[in-house]
Amino acid sequence: MAYCPVCKREFEAKTECPDDKVALVDELPYQTVEGDTTTWVEIATVGSEEEARMVRGFLQAEGIPSQYESLEVNMLPVNIGTMGEIRVFVDAEREADAIRLLAEREEDFEAAPSDESVMTDDGPAMIADDAETVSEDDQKS
Ligand SMILES: [Zn+2]
Repeated sequence: MAYCPVCKREFEAKTECPDDKVALVDELPYQTVEGDTTTWVEIATVGSEEEARMVRGFLQAEGIPSQYESLEVNMLPVNIGTMGEIRVFVDAEREADAIRLLAEREEDFEAAPSDESVMTDDGPAMIADDAETVSEDDQKS
């Protein structure tokens, strides 16, 4: 069995995709999901929704559209994998950029001492509310 890395179709007894004219690969490295206007390709699997949000926020800051599976909000019509594993998807057209940026980000993490508090926040919305309250209190005192 072989797959076209461009259109992701599966072929038997072929070495090249007849439409895309590219060599077939033995297996696709990542799952892809067809959206309405975008093909999403999996680029990472993370252990928590907080982490998925961070990765998504990071990619959005770089201008790369991304999605992640969520148990609470089904952003994509895919099955949830193993409990506790959340797959992050990016626009297939930006896959190479996203992989490179995430690799650079990992290097930054390894270079800098890890900050546990960043990983265990309750969520962006709640942080914002708390931060506002704190700053008002600071101004009064
Ligand atoms: Zn193809």
